[in-house]
Amino acid sequence: MTTLRDTFAQVQRSLRDPPDEILLELGADGEVLLARLRLVIAAALILLPVINFYTGGGGYESLVGVTGVGLALLLSQVWLTMARRRRRHRWLPYVSAGFDVSVVSIVLLLLAFRSPAAGLNSVVVWGCYPLAVLATALRNDLRVTFSVGLLAIAQFLGISAFFQYISVGPISSADYGTVHVSTQLQRAALLAASTIITMLIVFRMQRLVQMSGTDGLTGLPNRSFLNHRVPNLIADSRSEGDTLCLALLDLDYFKRINDELGHQAGDRALRHIVESLRLELRRDEPLLRVGGEEFVLVLRQPVGAAWERLDFLRRKLQERPFLPEAGAEPRVLTFSAGLSCCPADAVDVSGLMRSADLRLRAAKLAGRNRVIARDDL
Ligand code: GH3
Ligand code: MG
Ligand code: MG
Repeated sequence: MTTLRDTFAQVQRSLRDPPDEILLELGADGEVLLARLRLVIAAALILLPVINFYTGGGGYESLVGVTGVGLALLLSQVWLTMARRRRRHRWLPYVSAGFDVSVVSIVLLLLAFRSPAAGLNSVVVWGCYPLAVLATALRNDLRVTFSVGLLAIAQFLGISAFFQYISVGPISSADYGTVHVSTQLQRAALLAASTIITMLIVFRMQRLVQMSGTDGLTGLPNRSFLNHRVPNLIADSRSEGDTLCLALLDLDYFKRINDELGHQAGDRALRHIVESLRLELRRDEPLLRVGGEEFVLVLRQPVGAAWERLDFLRRKLQERPFLPEAGAEPRVLTFSAGLSCCPADAVDVSGLMRSADLRLRAAKLAGRNRVIARDDL
């Protein structure tokens, strides 16, 4: 069972690193969803100043309302256009969520300038702060929730402190009662609590996605990376005119390891192989475990360079034998690989995998422990 202290320590660690790519991809979808919702709400709000005008409200007030809501509508459209772009903007979730919180603060300010008690004691408008913080959960990024929660607390306390400072005597009105410092602090504490709860929701969601997308034995991403992330990597490379290669790796005679040393040693051998490859791999070279002893490596390089890279990894693994246990005879482990590249061989994941698989079989037939990147070899 996870204790609260463990969870907070893990949340703190996760705050330092960006979430994994699949989560950010899902978060970008959430951003589009929120942008649409924001636009619908802003469009509906334009009715308020119009109704105000036709029901005898002040002309100036209605004009200010229409201008304010019109501006919010325009910015909501800008956020939607940005969110729908295929290229993800890292700053967009921060700016759009910061915008939501700031709109609440601006409305509170406008209320407070007319009647400080209305601005500081309004429940309905203030209640939009925790809603804006909760909505950040759709972006799947703890750092966004954390910063937007802090921003909401700072803006609310700033507005509250400012009006209490400039007011002479207690702030009160017949409709909104008296403003007490203690209730203002309680509201800030409630905002902090909603930020913490939203962060815990995001954290648990991240854990679930990580668990379902990670192979338990080696810690590598599993096939879901191939289905969800690789299509976007292919699209990125195509839009920039680059080549992206997929290598399908299969360990040679791995069944012998299991037969001769046992299944547990086989598991240790798999971990040893992944560890050896990880020592050499860069961040932009994702390795996935797609089957028992089959792996996929994604290389954003032209075919020649990708072949060289893969052959280098093959030699490195060969140079680092697996020691089943202390004093036992070291076992040299090797792999065969088929390499296929986009756009020359195929332009989608299944086409690339099919052609890499054919070449992998050719590599096995040709004697194993080699990399093949063409069909005529
Ligand atoms: P080849 O060179 O033709 O690929 O020979 P191979 O023996 O590697 O091929 P084969 O597909 O016949 O055997 C793969 C073996 O990998 C079978 C299975 O026992 C083993 N294997 C697959 N997944 C795991 C695993 O998670 N742990 C262990 N210990 N063994 C595994
Ligand atoms: Mg196999
Ligand atoms: Mg094999």
